[in-house]
Amino acid sequence: MKNRVGRIIVALVFLVGFAFYTYDQEKNSMHSDDVAFFGEAKGLNAQAFEGVSMEAEPSPEEIVGQPMEQAAEPEATPEATVEPTPEPTPSIPQVDITSWELILVNADNRLGSDWTPERVITVSDSQCPIDSRIEEPLMAMAQACKDAGLSVYLSSGYRSYSEQAANFTRVCNNNGVADGKDANGFYITMPAGGSEHQTGLAVDITDRYYEIKNASLENTDTFKWLKEHCTEYGFILRFPKDKEEITGVMYEPFHFRYVGVEVAKYMTENNLCLEEFVALYQE
Ligand SMILES: [Zn+2]
Repeated sequence: MKNRVGRIIVALVFLVGFAFYTYDQEKNSMHSDDVAFFGEAKGLNAQAFEGVSMEAEPSPEEIVGQPMEQAAEPEATPEATVEPTPEPTPSIPQVDITSWELILVNADNRLGSDWTPERVITVSDSQCPIDSRIEEPLMAMAQACKDAGLSVYLSSGYRSYSEQAANFTRVCNNNGVADGKDANGFYITMPAGGSEHQTGLAVDITDRYYEIKNASLENTDTFKWLKEHCTEYGFILRFPKDKEEITGVMYEPFHFRYVGVEVAKYMTENNLCLEEFVALYQE
């Protein structure tokens, strides 16, 4: 009995299928005028199908893009309507970027031959000339370093324009170069006007006298101490190892520059060199 019913069903399905097939064949072969229409209809179907498939199976970009857009929206709405709230990231210090201790001097920002600091003094226990305004923080830093059991040598401070010109020629001759740059294209000595030693705000600090100051000085205990504590006195390591491409100057683990405590700490915490810091104020 079951077999018989099964056979009937199979036969019916076959007959219905055959009927549809025949109809379709007839339609295609006999009504050639409809071929164009059929093509259009097929096109419509394909479009509809594409639409459905996009909804059902978003491409990887869409999957990634959706949640990001959705996540961004709730944040944007309150910010636009509610009173401004403190930023989670530290805002830039409220300083006058044109102030004397923030002056930017480099190869692109040169001082004139007649530019001199307000008042140059020579600190008591060395022959190092500096801008008088950095005497107190510089001496405090040097004393703290000595108190830590380390020796401190102020090897170079203020240099006039003409002194820097002579310095440039001497260093170029010693190194067999004409432009003051090393093999990597970074300055080992600055052309006159381009050295911030002319400001009196920069001091080369080492543990003793060196004929040549280079990157190996980073291994001295005096440098290690200064690097860790200089910001407490308002100084920065002006030409760090990882900023040569920006400063254009080779790594100098001895050249410290006064910028003030607030700015020194901000620059160090945010890993900025002076060029990058000054750029924050040039909107
Ligand atoms: Zn220097």
